[in-house]
Amino acid sequence: MVIQGCRKLLGSVLTSKWSVRGGPRLSPALWVPLRHCNISACSYKLRNVDLHPLWKGQLDIPGGTRQSPIDIRVRDSIFHPDLSPVKTHYDPNTCLHIWNNGYAFLVEFDDCTDKSVVSGGPLENPYRLKQFHFHWGINNDWGSEHTVDSKVYPAELHLVHWNCTKYQTFEEAIMEENGLAVIGIFLKLGKHHEKLQKLVDILPSVRYKDSLTEFNYFDPSCLLPSCSDYWTYAGSLTTPPLTESVTWMIMKKPVEVDHSQLAVFRSLLFSAVGEEENYMVDNFRPLQPLMNRTVHSSFQPALQVSDVKKKSDKQIQQAG
Ligand SMILES: [Zn+2]
Repeated sequence: MVIQGCRKLLGSVLTSKWSVRGGPRLSPALWVPLRHCNISACSYKLRNVDLHPLWKGQLDIPGGTRQSPIDIRVRDSIFHPDLSPVKTHYDPNTCLHIWNNGYAFLVEFDDCTDKSVVSGGPLENPYRLKQFHFHWGINNDWGSEHTVDSKVYPAELHLVHWNCTKYQTFEEAIMEENGLAVIGIFLKLGKHHEKLQKLVDILPSVRYKDSLTEFNYFDPSCLLPSCSDYWTYAGSLTTPPLTESVTWMIMKKPVEVDHSQLAVFRSLLFSAVGEEENYMVDNFRPLQPLMNRTVHSSFQPALQVSDVKKKSDKQIQQAG
């Protein structure tokens, strides 16, 4: 699709000063090739752009076979009848603060106890909520990390949890097998999101890199879609150290936010006080190859019109 072409182009050329260009520094197997896009919205000029500082240095995962994000191909996903719904239980009292780390804003939680956890789905035991954050684009045409049949959303929320049964700390879990469980939720343009607004209202206080503000009593389950259908696959962190420790659970239905809410996301800065101002936009990693992985779904995929036709043709043939 054309948008996919844009997305691949975005792997190399972006409009912000600090583009998130994971591609050229990755091994050839992980690099998403440049493809030209011929729609007018994609009229980027090829130019040298600085990498965001996050993506400088050693980013290679030699021999990486389960990198994220990916394009979820709905017809290739396999329904897994044993997948139960993902259960979140979050105590709003564990919400601590919000801070701008120079790449995104993070809402962090007290993870010393099991008061805020996710369980169920593909997970063998509860995982503790550590933080949540978003990825978004400079405009509404892109911004999500995962895509669904090449469809890109303007933003994506990640709720990051760690396996407190297997590991002692979040830092340890990041580096290990079955260490993390991340719920991914797409944001699409639509109605004003009442509950998100509490977060949006505090964002101007963390406009600059390294700023931190107290942010209490927030239950992120209000950001989950009402439909519990999801896809799950084995993947990686989408920011350095890119470790392959993540069980992804990507919710099928997006949640709606309005333009003014995304506009506040885009008013944040990658830069610290006193530095040249660079807007915090396009903070997503390019798509990575699926390689030898299967995406499972918790739901029976709806039949496409073309499938229904094939099926009825077959029935007619059998009847004849
Ligand atoms: Zn993320």
